[in-house]
Amino acid sequence: MLEIRFHGRGGTGSVLASRALAKAVFYAGKHAVTFPSFGAERRGAPVVPFVRINEEPIYQRTQIYEPDMIVVLDESLLELIDVAKGLKSDGVGVLNSTKKPEQIKLSKPVNAWVLDANKIACETLGHSITNSAMLGALIQGTKIVSLENLERGMLSVFKAKLGESVARKNVEAARIAYDNTIYGTTKGSRNYSDMQPWLPDINELPIGTIIPRTQVNGGQEIGPGSAKTRITGSWSNYKAEINQDKCIQCLQCMFHCPEGTIQQNSDYLVVNRRYCKACKICEYICPEKAISMVKINGLAEIIK
Ligand code: SF4
Ligand code: SF4
Repeated sequence: MLEIRFHGRGGTGSVLASRALAKAVFYAGKHAVTFPSFGAERRGAPVVPFVRINEEPIYQRTQIYEPDMIVVLDESLLELIDVAKGLKSDGVGVLNSTKKPEQIKLSKPVNAWVLDANKIACETLGHSITNSAMLGALIQGTKIVSLENLERGMLSVFKAKLGESVARKNVEAARIAYDNTIYGTTKGSRNYSDMQPWLPDINELPIGTIIPRTQVNGGQEIGPGSAKTRITGSWSNYKAEINQDKCIQCLQCMFHCPEGTIQQNSDYLVVNRRYCKACKICEYICPEKAISMVKINGLAEIIK
């Protein structure tokens, strides 16, 4: 059994890529199953699709914790999430990066095929959705299926969702990636920032909050803190900022923020940038127009 774990972001095609790969495996006469794990509710949030491939029927439906391969579609995830976690000692990576393999630092050294998938996607498709380029690199590196079967799988899955001409452009991106992937070994020993709880304790919640602190449903924590293991601030390049001169302390923004990132600090309000996902609800709700979205300077500002 071959187990592959994709790391992507919501809305950027990682689930479509895993389905196209599974279809290509069927065309190659093998068995495959694929399913995603969605962490949260919107575009930009980390998503982890899984693919299992086998000569025999596959009955296992658990998430993949010790993959043979990892495929990372978004370069920023290399800084944020320990994508090599659980990767088998002889496992391999397929990484989207502008760097050479030996310049990439993960939690452990990983033999990897690396490509600048954003560049290929932008030049071929006119946007930076990297899923098709990553599939081309995956096939070049691992030869799981032939390029021909990958193209059949992609056409079948992409055409149903995006139409034939877009599907064919995606196949072209995969072909270009197939020819432009380099092999090497990454560095190891990168320390990843702990995923810390940030939401207020039950005693710190504003008066009127009616959601219980936590509930357990199938092993997932929900309610305030539902996303406490995720750094939701990494989902956007913009963050909420409060103009203290305009703010009248009505606390409407604090009540409405879905991430609980707005907190009262003695006599003014602060936004925790680590978890502000720039949903703009506070900007919309503020009666004094005291909140605006400001651009941040990359992930370093969030995960420090
Ligand atoms: S934009 Fe405002 S409401 Fe949305 S997460 Fe950030 S602080 Fe909270
Ligand atoms: S909603 Fe606007 S005015 Fe009210 S506390 Fe928040 S920032 Fe201040």
